[in-house]
Amino acid sequence: MRILLIEDEKRIAAFVTRGLEESGYSVDCAENGQQGLARLGEAAYDLLILDLMLPDMDGLVVLEKVRNRNPTLPVLILSARGSLDDRVKGLDLGADDYLVKPFAFVELLARVRALLRRGQSLPERLQAGDLVLDSLRRKVSRGGVPIDLAPKEFAILEYLLRNKGRVLSRTMIVEHVWETDYSGLTNIVDVYIRHLRSKIDDPWPDKLIKTVRGMGYMISAAEEREPAGSASPTS
Ligand code: CA
Repeated sequence: MRILLIEDEKRIAAFVTRGLEESGYSVDCAENGQQGLARLGEAAYDLLILDLMLPDMDGLVVLEKVRNRNPTLPVLILSARGSLDDRVKGLDLGADDYLVKPFAFVELLARVRALLRRGQSLPERLQAGDLVLDSLRRKVSRGGVPIDLAPKEFAILEYLLRNKGRVLSRTMIVEHVWETDYSGLTNIVDVYIRHLRSKIDDPWPDKLIKTVRGMGYMISAAEEREPAGSASPTS
């Protein structure tokens, strides 16, 4: 497992690198955004740890560039900026997790492990009605029509499909998709579900994503749902 750390503060970079290497990871360090982006172009990484306050550019700009090139690379943001606004912005731009400085190394290690574990899910084709998600190629289509999803929309849809017919609470979705406790940020789920619906449901008559009032969300297709009345035996 190879990790890239983009961090200009030498003391923190040294501390994180040493800790991760002692835990068995290979770590490369970059001390600014340009250098980090260059490294990402040169080698394949399993995880990016990204500081937000860099000498040459805002870490969020780095994140945006990384996401354009590589939508699936897990990204953990490391920042002294812990405001809700910064977190939401980071998550919106496709960061997978957010750790506020100062942090304990064990906390960082737990987040790194969780992110890397998530990256190893088995390739699989998931389906609800005519909606198909290919988790290996990261592609989604409905009725044969390809649909482009943002990374978090994809992650939410994949999670719903892996739990087809089960209601998932907003908290479950936040904790799964961002792998952390963002209680208070569960409204972000509603925003993402709205985006998701506009892409996978609005153009079709059968709406796959159901809102279960007071509980959360569920995905299921018409032919997989129980009929409302008692089913008559086929003759
Ligand atoms: Ca910094």
